[in-house]
Amino acid sequence: MTILVLNAGSSTLKARLLDPGTGKALFETKVERIGEGDRTHVSAVAHVLEEVKGQSIEAVAHRVVHGGADLTSAILVDDAVERAVEACVPLAPLHNPANLAGIRAARKALPSVPHVAVFDTAFHARMPRRAHTYAIDPEVAGRHGIRRFGFHGTSHAYVAELAASSLGRPLKELRLVTLHLGNGASACAVELGHSTETSMGMTPLEGLVMGTRSGDIDAGAILALLGAGWDHARLEKMLNRESGLAGLSGAGNDLRDIERRAAEGDDRCRLAITVFSHRVRKYVGAYAASMGGLDAVVLTGGIGENSVTMRQRILQRFEFLGLVLDEDRNASAKVTHDAPTARLTADHSRIAALAVKTDEELSIARQAAQVLRDRAREAPAQPIPIAVSARHLHLTAETFAELFGKDATPTRRKDISQPGQYACEEQVNLIGPRGRIDGVRLLGPLRPRNQVEVSRTDEFKLGVDAPIRDSGKTDGSAPIVIEGPKGKVSLTEGLICAKRHIHMSPDDAKRYGVADGDEVEVEVSGGPRSLVFGDVLIRVSPKFVLEMHIDTDEANAAEINPGAQGELVYADVEGAHGALRVRRVHKPS
Ligand code: ADP
Repeated sequence: MTILVLNAGSSTLKARLLDPGTGKALFETKVERIGEGDRTHVSAVAHVLEEVKGQSIEAVAHRVVHGGADLTSAILVDDAVERAVEACVPLAPLHNPANLAGIRAARKALPSVPHVAVFDTAFHARMPRRAHTYAIDPEVAGRHGIRRFGFHGTSHAYVAELAASSLGRPLKELRLVTLHLGNGASACAVELGHSTETSMGMTPLEGLVMGTRSGDIDAGAILALLGAGWDHARLEKMLNRESGLAGLSGAGNDLRDIERRAAEGDDRCRLAITVFSHRVRKYVGAYAASMGGLDAVVLTGGIGENSVTMRQRILQRFEFLGLVLDEDRNASAKVTHDAPTARLTADHSRIAALAVKTDEELSIARQAAQVLRDRAREAPAQPIPIAVSARHLHLTAETFAELFGKDATPTRRKDISQPGQYACEEQVNLIGPRGRIDGVRLLGPLRPRNQVEVSRTDEFKLGVDAPIRDSGKTDGSAPIVIEGPKGKVSLTEGLICAKRHIHMSPDDAKRYGVADGDEVEVEVSGGPRSLVFGDVLIRVSPKFVLEMHIDTDEANAAEINPGAQGELVYADVEGAHGALRVRRVHKPS
């Protein structure tokens, strides 16, 4: 397959024709100085098409910076999508108009080829609410669309995937901080494969120090300038074009020049470098804390890939975290398209640091190819029984003995659907810092690890924060106190909010075309509150009976009653297209 990737900036159009399977580029060009003379995006697209004349183009993939709240995954472009991209212009006034001009010109020139829009914001679209919310009046935020979106998603997702494969571990078991340090710069907390925090916000202005953008600045400083008579245009120009490395150094935005002048003794350049690296370090620490752990730091973009000294400043003195930089490796690290990852840390470093060469065009092409594959795929329509799990717990023999007495054994009350599992007569009380929940049922048999499963509503009652986890993955989960008739046990971990999942046999998996560990979407329709559940984990074992498990909050949200069924509407096959989930929204006909 050959895909033409168009990346339209305000004054440039980058184009690459490539095969997303092999990554091989068949053609590449960059048209500059759009907006000068009679050069427009339309003429630039025409110029590119002229150059690739004779080559087969099976699809065009368009980079779009801002997808807003509605365009949350790569999508086939039609007139409605075009209008939705246009509606996001106020959110990215420097970028979206150019992206849109590219889409319009290319659709006109190549009307019979599918066009796919790929969004910088998409990877962050499912950031938790606590990460994307600004602490202002929600009514004001809602009315003006003020929330954090995040950008550079294509790059963060792409380098996270490469880093995971270089570390030889599945992305969904890793906590990464990815640092895209180019002219624009952002940090991302990639937690078990998903973006859960990123430094750019509602616009690409928040966060790290950039080539010409300030990154974080106290909103009070803006108010002060407004008070001093600055108007919108002047503020916009200063914050976006005259700040960052360029503003601090007074020596332009190219770090190579700034580093050279700093070495010669230029104090403004020295300050620019230290403010830049200090800010990045701050975010690495913050994201390690917000993820509750860290496996690797990944550096990319022109600066992350090339600047040995900046990498050194960022990564030094992280031994206390378990990251030990190897200065020789850092000094000799080279990343190329053919060898895109290089390790920067010592072998004994518990946390790895890697330089990774990003390739946004390739990632965009792959996402577009995935959208086209999804379009071709028929969704299997076999109903899946849904079971609603009330809060419950699994205990180890040791904890059971502490709670119910040394000689007690669990008493079987009734079998539950998964073979070998049963509800017990025994119940315990959960005690959190805020409140307690009595009468929580034990499920048997006893297990090697304690696991307490509660809903989000329960969490508020207890006053605890439970991470969403697959069953059995309780490392680093939340603490909870359990009270039984014979004693109290204070677990340091074990409390989770269970990740919704489907149990199925290998035969079922074959029928649905999914594998253990895939994540799918399941639609529940026909009732009073239809809902599509995303992020539903597939768990395959010959011991399992086909059944989807959700908790009481999830069931209430979809008004699910006993005997309910869902339909698998979309299977997202891990690894097929990097870390990005490309979602097809299922519309009941
Ligand atoms: P963009 O965000 O425009 O794609 P890049 O990812 O190409 O930008 O990054 C550009 C930045 O990378 C510039 O600040 C440039 O100075 C810096 N850079 C590139 N090579 C080096 C190098 N060898 N040493 C230091 N900085 C470098």
